[in-house]
Amino acid sequence: MALLEFQNVSKSYDNVTKALSDITFSIEKGEFVSIIGPSGAGKSTLLRCINRLVDASEGTIIFDGHDVRQAGKAEMRQMRAKIGMIFQQFNLFASRTVYDNVAFPLKGSNLTKEQKDKKVCDLLKLVELEEKASAYPSQLSGGQKQRVAIARALANDPEIILSDESTSALDPRTTRAILDLLKKVNRELGITIVVITHEMKVIQEICNRVAIISEGKIAEMGSVQEIFR
Ligand code: ADP
Repeated sequence: MALLEFQNVSKSYDNVTKALSDITFSIEKGEFVSIIGPSGAGKSTLLRCINRLVDASEGTIIFDGHDVRQAGKAEMRQMRAKIGMIFQQFNLFASRTVYDNVAFPLKGSNLTKEQKDKKVCDLLKLVELEEKASAYPSQLSGGQKQRVAIARALANDPEIILSDESTSALDPRTTRAILDLLKKVNRELGITIVVITHEMKVIQEICNRVAIISEGKIAEMGSVQEIFR
């Protein structure tokens, strides 16, 4: 069974703007998929329908065996814990330290204090920010902030990470490092990754599959080799 499935999904904002039109595709566990396409094509809307930051208007979305559009509050909360998301503007808590930002999603978990501490330290190690544990976001570079966001997104052991233009505010070298980190997360932790990006070179080197979105439709979806041929 696919990890994520869209069946004939459409989304209209205000019953006027048709942002998504009859989208059907599926993503298998462990894939690294990138979504590309012009501004306003519907990429962000598509990504946000998965965790219901945006509610689709029609169609079916199945994530990890759950019907996203039909899920009640408790089921949705469980599902959201399995979906990590990172954004262009990082969305960190400015008044919390790096450590507390990463620990935040663990608040409601059943882990003991020691287990939580180990989890946070392991994650900071994974993103190579152990020495910044007590720093505040304002003391970090953009790349470091995005690393904190990635560690935070990993805290609940998600099945999937969604990245909405998470490198758009970064310089090329830092962008590369962040995408390499996501690749490491994909390869070593087996976490499925879906990114919206403009980084063609990186797409060619890192992704398994590419979806090209145009005017709310999937214009093409295939392996990197097929798309760039
Ligand atoms: P992309 O991520 O490819 O730039 P978006 O998904 O952000 O595209 O937007 C797709 C379309 O939906 C655009 O026409 C955009 O203006 C419109 N749109 C996006 N968000 C909203 C919203 N909250 N309200 C109304 N229209 C929106």
